[in-house]
This record gives sequence, C-alpha cells and structure tokens, in this order.
Amino acid sequence: MKAVVLTEYGGPEVLRAAEMPEPQISANEVLVRVRACALNHLDLWLRRGLPTQPLEFPHILGSDIAGEIAQIGPSVTNVRVGDKVLLAPGISCGQCEQCIAGNDNFCKSYTLFGSAVQGGYAEFVKSPAVNAVLIPGALTFEQAAAVPLVFLTAWHMLLTRARLRPSEEVLVIGASSGVGSAAIQIAKAVGARVIAASSSEAKLARAKELGADDVVPSRGEFAREVKRLTGGRGVDVVFEHVGQTTWEQSIYSLARGGRLVTCGATTGFDGKLNIGYIFARHLSILGSFMGAKSELFAVLELFKRGLLRPVIDCVLPLERVAEAHQRLENHEQFGKIVLSVA
Ligand SMILES: [Zn+2]
Repeated sequence: MKAVVLTEYGGPEVLRAAEMPEPQISANEVLVRVRACALNHLDLWLRRGLPTQPLEFPHILGSDIAGEIAQIGPSVTNVRVGDKVLLAPGISCGQCEQCIAGNDNFCKSYTLFGSAVQGGYAEFVKSPAVNAVLIPGALTFEQAAAVPLVFLTAWHMLLTRARLRPSEEVLVIGASSGVGSAAIQIAKAVGARVIAASSSEAKLARAKELGADDVVPSRGEFAREVKRLTGGRGVDVVFEHVGQTTWEQSIYSLARGGRLVTCGATTGFDGKLNIGYIFARHLSILGSFMGAKSELFAVLELFKRGLLRPVIDCVLPLERVAEAHQRLENHEQFGKIVLSVA
C-alpha cells in the first residue's frame, strides 16, 4: 500500500512516500481504507523524536482517521464491510481495572494511532473493532477526521475534569488551534460564557464567529484584560494547552476557586507558579490527557444535533504532508489541517 513513513527523526523533509505491506488483521480487528487523516501536534513531536516514545522505523504517523471498513475479523460484530467510520484515537488493553471502569485513557498500555502503533498517513490502517465508530450525520471523511482527538480532549477537559457549568465563564487559550476551536464550541454548547485568547486579530475574529462572547490578544499581561471583561473577578475555568508562554497569565486570569485545566504545552514545559497565589485563592490545577471512548459518543451526539461542527483549516493531499507539517509548525492554521488519501 501507499504510505508516508518516517525512517529517521527530523524536520518535515524526513516524511517520505513509500510502499508498505498492507496490515494483517486478527479476529477482533478491522482493516480501514483511510480516506482522511488529520494532523495533531503529537505528529510533530513524534517526527522530531520524543525520548519517552522511541519509534520503530519505518513508522506511519496519524492519530485522527476516517475511512471505510475494508475487511473485518471473524469476531467483529459492531461494523460491516463498507461502513463509513472514524476511529477513536486511543487504543487500550480493554482488560485492566481502568479499562473496565471506562477510563481507558488511564490504561497503562494506552497509546494512540501513529504513536506506538501505525497510523493513518497510509492507504490502510488496522484497528481494534472497538475503536471503529460510524460517522454521524452528513459529515464528510475530511470533516470526520477533524473531530476525534481534539473534541474528545476538549470534552474531557471542560466537562469531566473542570466540571464546567452553564453559569460559569471560561477562558480558552490558543483558540485558533484544533483543540481550542473545539473547546469554544463545547463550552458554548453547555451554555457557559467564553472568552477566547489568541495571538492575532484575524484568529480572534474567527474565534468570535465560532461563538466566543469576548476575545483577548494572548500577549503581555492579558490577565488584566480578562479581569476587566469579568468585572474584576476572573474566570472560573482556564483551558490551557499552550504552556510556558501563557501559563503565568493563565493562572492570574482565574477567579477565586477557579480551575485551570491543561492538556499540553506546545511552547514549552517550564511554567512559573506562585504557590502562595494558588492556596490563597483556592485554585486548582488539573491535568488531562485525551478522554474515555464513551465520551466520544457524547461528542458525536452533539454533532448529530448540529451543536458542534468540525473546524477545518485546509485539506491537502497526502503527498503534500511536509507542507502540512510546516503549516502546523508555524502556527499558521485555524482549526484542523487534514490530509486526504485518494
Ligand atoms: Zn487497560
């Protein structure tokens, strides 16, 4: 099959077209003919090389996959050949205490497509049957690929970890990213007031179109502006994933008793923290990684009802993957960059 593989770590130039053997499935697996695969920051980290996650070369990236079921194992009953599906990005053992409790993203062997297993930058990918979910409504393959990872992550952060309520105010940092544009919509869908922060005026205008009630440029001491927009109070929840450059101002943007929830640090991992400020103001800092498979069903239900929509920056053919990586690396995008696989 046609694929884009990594055979070494490096810049976008190390992404090379190659012929790879078609994956062989076992009894509980399905073979998916990939039609679209969305990019995530994880792809960039893995391409550059993560000390904690060494790859086996040749490696195929890509965590957000949509396509058609091409083949099913003899034990598979949830999908049929020809079904249009998206794949839940997280793979877990399905047998441990956490998996049985429904916290599959807490599983010790949890991984993502394109990380410890081969991903979607290819004509075919194999998947556990439990990861295959029918594409809801009238979503195209490109739109469906733009949904799973970011909406699942944002849902888990805002609703499960931070327990956002309709009466509350939330500050979404990095509003132009895939996860930021998902967070704005989810927070609005539950009735919260949303302040979106981003680096450029053009991106802030797009955030408003998505439903943000107010916007702030995410530079300098932006917490002052957040305080002004909330009558001096600060926000109940800060949605963080940018890290080092925004961290301190994100914490100063919180109201008393506020919660900061974070799923990433695209600008670096060393955030400054005033411990006195944390305890004196009753603040909580919550870590979050991905979400449970069951939460993806909740997300897709809101897509069916038209309350959420995928945000696509651009669709490029798989052959132009290096350009796609460069665009994400330069933070030029608003929403998801999607690769189409012909
Ligand atoms: Zn498990």
